[in-house]
Amino acid sequence: MERYSRQVLFQPIGREGQEKLGRARVLLVGCGALGSVLAEILVRAGIGRLTLADRDYVDESNLQRQSLYTEADAREGLPKAVAAVRHLREINSAVEIVERIADVNALSVASLVQEQDLILDGTDNFETRYLLNDASLKWNIPWIYGACVGSYGLCLAFLPGLTACLRCVLQQLPPPGSSPTCDTSGVVGPIVHLVAALQAAEALKILTGNLRQVNRKVVTVDVWENRVATLDLSQLNRDGRCPACGQRRFEFLEGAHEGRTQALCGRNAVQIWRSSPRPVDFKPIAERLARLGPVQYNEFLLRAHVDNLEIALFRDGRGIIRGTQNSDEAQRIYAKYIGN
Ligand SMILES: [Zn+2]
Repeated sequence: MERYSRQVLFQPIGREGQEKLGRARVLLVGCGALGSVLAEILVRAGIGRLTLADRDYVDESNLQRQSLYTEADAREGLPKAVAAVRHLREINSAVEIVERIADVNALSVASLVQEQDLILDGTDNFETRYLLNDASLKWNIPWIYGACVGSYGLCLAFLPGLTACLRCVLQQLPPPGSSPTCDTSGVVGPIVHLVAALQAAEALKILTGNLRQVNRKVVTVDVWENRVATLDLSQLNRDGRCPACGQRRFEFLEGAHEGRTQALCGRNAVQIWRSSPRPVDFKPIAERLARLGPVQYNEFLLRAHVDNLEIALFRDGRGIIRGTQNSDEAQRIYAKYIGN
């Protein structure tokens, strides 16, 4: 308890709150910019178990804002989940930390959210957030939405049965390319830390049982335009017509919106799945691709350069094709060099 003395002295948490934190199980989806900060705050605060799910690997262009990672992580090409867990264990060895190098999608989400007390959004896309929203409602787990782009960001906590849900706020999935992303507008470090700090504060309230303190309003901040605002959403979905929280139709969990490819925010890259995931043997692929360009691989990931593109291939056959945003081109490259 000495380790957490300053937090225990803070009266709304106290000894009882700290013990609750010590038993709390949290799923963090996405360990990029927001996820780095969220993971560090929660691990330092002494939660019981953190499950980290991330599908990506550390790249040099992440280091400007993704505060858990180092140049060595980027050089090694480590999956973010692996690098994050290494650093987090050095920060607090008492916290159980579970790494999942995985895409969170309609197939994988059920096993990830089981036995969690809270879901934290460190993602960069609406498809995954709508999926988390469905999972939150179906399994009655609070989740905390966070997003930032440019110098602007927002935070909103969703408590099933007590607040509106994401689909009350945004009925339809915004069409691809309709909203600004880190890809098109960039992002500055301070807004990431600010939004993640807001999310982490709501997380501490929820995990210590201070539900009445949870902010029921959406908070928006622009650190460049010097604007902070809140918006009250308590009047939303009074009529129960929301398909997700009102009618309990979980379209994203059912996979109705899933494709086999997806453009990735900030990466000029496309992610591609196999229709039936199965383990991949890197060695023969590396030997084959080495004739075409530089190839490196470790136990988690293979990276190869072909046709002015980079292919990153994970153990389960999932690929990230970098250097294009064209799904058809990415599928063609994957089929040509990896197979189907
Ligand atoms: Zn709703």
